[in-house]
Amino acid sequence: MKADDIVASFQTDNKGNDVGKAEYTNIINSGLAGQFEAKFEQTANGKYLVTLGATEGGGDLSKLSAEQKSFYDSFNDIANDHSSIVAQDVVLNDDTVDWGSYASNKIDVGDMSKFNSISDKGHTGSTAQGLLAHETDEQHQFTKVEGYQSMNKIQKMNTWDTSHEHAIGVENAVNGNERLKGRDINSGNSYTKFFKEANGSVTSETATSFTKNMQVTKMTIN
Ligand SMILES: [Zn+2]
Repeated sequence: MKADDIVASFQTDNKGNDVGKAEYTNIINSGLAGQFEAKFEQTANGKYLVTLGATEGGGDLSKLSAEQKSFYDSFNDIANDHSSIVAQDVVLNDDTVDWGSYASNKIDVGDMSKFNSISDKGHTGSTAQGLLAHETDEQHQFTKVEGYQSMNKIQKMNTWDTSHEHAIGVENAVNGNERLKGRDINSGNSYTKFFKEANGSVTSETATSFTKNMQVTKMTIN
């Protein structure tokens, strides 16, 4: 089977190196228990088809936690959906993008890397993998909308609610908690989300907005 559906583009620095590819790779690989890893097939300068493949000696799905399995499934299913292409324009600590932009297909792997991993014991709130899964699923949902190829950004944003809602479901499974709906607070210079953890406690998580070095503060509020 040739998977051809997640295409990541990386900016290149003045030495021609891909910017953000190490962080992108690390977010994926660190969520897969050493059993699977990101595989890249270069298609053009800075452009890659991304799939998941077994590591050497790995490939055992039973070694993944429930969250890791959800991450694997969500990413792998999209990579193997040959009916559409999810284009990800990967940026690193871009001050115009927080986590990702639905309108522009940009994902900021620098921001995502500031969050704990699904592989960390006792992880709370957002995880790097949950954020990546959310942005990936959201763009994939967009490709399910009739006539999406010819939509402008305004028309695309009119589909955001539905795509975002679906992406939250995926993110919840990857994070192993529940993002609380209707509770987000956008202060202009920070953004706060709330999560109900598996043990019933609630995590408040605030990230600075539109900076080159996102700062994340988490608190257990009950
Ligand atoms: Zn969303």
